[in-house]
Amino acid sequence: MIGPLMPSPIGHALGGVAAVWSADLVVPRPRERGRLLLVYIALAAAPDLDLFVPGGHRMATHSLFAMLLVFMIAAAVTGQVTRWRTATLCAAAYGSHLLLDWLGADNMPPRGIQLFWPISGRWFISNLDIFRETARQHFLTPAIIRQNAIAVAQEIAIMAPIVALLWWARRRTAKLRIWN
Ligand SMILES: [Zn+2]
Repeated sequence: MIGPLMPSPIGHALGGVAAVWSADLVVPRPRERGRLLLVYIALAAAPDLDLFVPGGHRMATHSLFAMLLVFMIAAAVTGQVTRWRTATLCAAAYGSHLLLDWLGADNMPPRGIQLFWPISGRWFISNLDIFRETARQHFLTPAIIRQNAIAVAQEIAIMAPIVALLWWARRRTAKLRIWN
């Protein structure tokens, strides 16, 4: 049986931008190129690639261990000057996926994510149901189209104001940096 996605890739993309821009406010310069944002967005959606592994959804790729691995790989492949900053932002983007899944609804047991894989097989979920389930099966039927459209609209309604606020905050600090 294939489990549902919790937030959709759209919700995860917005979550990744929010995480990276939040980290960007606290992790000092140097700033990197804007096109790296696409890498961060890909990382925020990447944990759900485990959908292609039968019976492996929300386990290994949805763990803090995987997040640490992303941090270490990013640190290994990034240039000297921006190394730790880029690695931190990569881990933040990846970690945003775990956070959003934890906050989302999941009605199919085992519910949640295996956050402490491989040490523990326990599944974690907040039960806050902040994000609705999105279905991947029969997704061209009217009922599922409706369910997914509502879920994605809700994701955008929650995440877009957060992303907009962070965009504004970053602009503000960028201006302050110029003046100081
Ligand atoms: Zn996921």
